[in-house]
Amino acid sequence: MILVMRQGCSQEEVTNAEVRLKEIGLTPHTLFGVERTVIAAIGDERRTSVDELSQIPGVDNVMPILAPYKLASRESQPIPSTFDIGGADSPCGGKSKAVTFGGKSIPIIAGPCAVEGRSQILEAAHAVKEAGAVALRAGAFKPRTSPYQFQGLAEEGLSYLAEAREATGLPIVTEVLAPADVPLVAKYADVLQIGTRNMQNFLLLRACGAVKTPVLLKRGMSASLEEHLLAAEYILSGGNPRVMLCERGIRTFESYVRNTFALALVPALKEKTHLPILADPSHGTGVRTLVPAMTRASIAAGADGILIEVHPNPEKALTDGAQTISVKDFAKLVNECRAIAEAIGRTV
Ligand code: PEP
Ligand code: MN
Repeated sequence: MILVMRQGCSQEEVTNAEVRLKEIGLTPHTLFGVERTVIAAIGDERRTSVDELSQIPGVDNVMPILAPYKLASRESQPIPSTFDIGGADSPCGGKSKAVTFGGKSIPIIAGPCAVEGRSQILEAAHAVKEAGAVALRAGAFKPRTSPYQFQGLAEEGLSYLAEAREATGLPIVTEVLAPADVPLVAKYADVLQIGTRNMQNFLLLRACGAVKTPVLLKRGMSASLEEHLLAAEYILSGGNPRVMLCERGIRTFESYVRNTFALALVPALKEKTHLPILADPSHGTGVRTLVPAMTRASIAAGADGILIEVHPNPEKALTDGAQTISVKDFAKLVNECRAIAEAIGRTV
C-alpha cells in the first residue's frame, strides 16, 4: 500500500501512521518530499484495506498495489487455469465424458432453464448433445422472484438430471440455492452453479469452497468486476480450486433487454484472473432473437465457455421461455460458433 500524507501534516501524524502500519504487520518506508510525505507500506496488504488505512489521522490518499483477490489473480498465477468437469473422477460419482475448461476448446453447456419433468429433460439432453453441447444445464432449485411461480422439482429434478447424464454422458451443471443443500446437489451434479442472486451469499460461497465439485459462479446483477472476483476468492480460499466465472448481464436503465450484457467484462476478467470465463447470452439478453448474435459475440470476445438456454419446446417452457432458443436454432448456432472459434485459433 502507498499512503500519501496530507500536505502540511505533522511529524507526530507521520510517526503515528508508521506505528499503526507496524501494528497491522506492514513495514513502513517513509519518503519525505518537498511538498508531501509518502509512506510505502511493505508486506501482505490484504490483511488491511484502503478504508482502514484512510482512517489514520493525516492520511490523504491510500493506493493498493496488489489486487485484493489473491488466489484468483493473474499476479498469483500468470497462466490460465485449466481443469476438467465430469469424467470418471467427478466427485458425484456419475458417469460422463470429461470436459476441459480454460483451454483452447470452448465448451458449450446447454439445456432448459429448469428441469420440468423426466421426459422433458431426457429429450432436451439428447437434443443438445446431438447439436454439439458437451454439458447439460437445468435448474432443479429455481430462484424465482415470486413465491407463486414454479420453484423447480428439487431432488426429483436432480434424479432426472442424473438419469440424463447416464443416458447421454453429458456432465450436469445445476444451481444450488442454499448452503444446507450443497451436499445434496453435489451428490448429483458435476458442477454447482451459484446464481446471480446468490453471488454475495457468503455462507453459500463458503459451503461451495468446502466441497470438491467444480463451481460456476455467475456475476451478481449489480456486482462489479472486483466483487465478482472476491466472491470467487471465497470459494478458492476454502480449498476448491475449480471455479469458473460467468458474465450474465447486469441491471441498467435499459429496459428493452432483460439485462445489459456486459461483454467487455469477458476480456477484462481474463486480464485480471487465470480462471475460465464463461458467457451466458440467454440471461444476458432475455430475448430469444438476440441470443444467437450475442453468443457469437461472446466467442469472439474470448469467452472460455457458453451457458445457453435451449428447450425442445421453448414456447411451453415453464421458466425463461422468452430467452430460450429451439433445438433447431441451437444446432445452427453451434456451427456458427465453430467458424468464429476457428478464426481466433480456438475450437468449439
Ligand atoms: C439460470 O441460469 O437459469 C439462472 C437462474 O441464472 P441467473 O442466476 O443468471 O439469473
Ligand atoms: Mn434461466
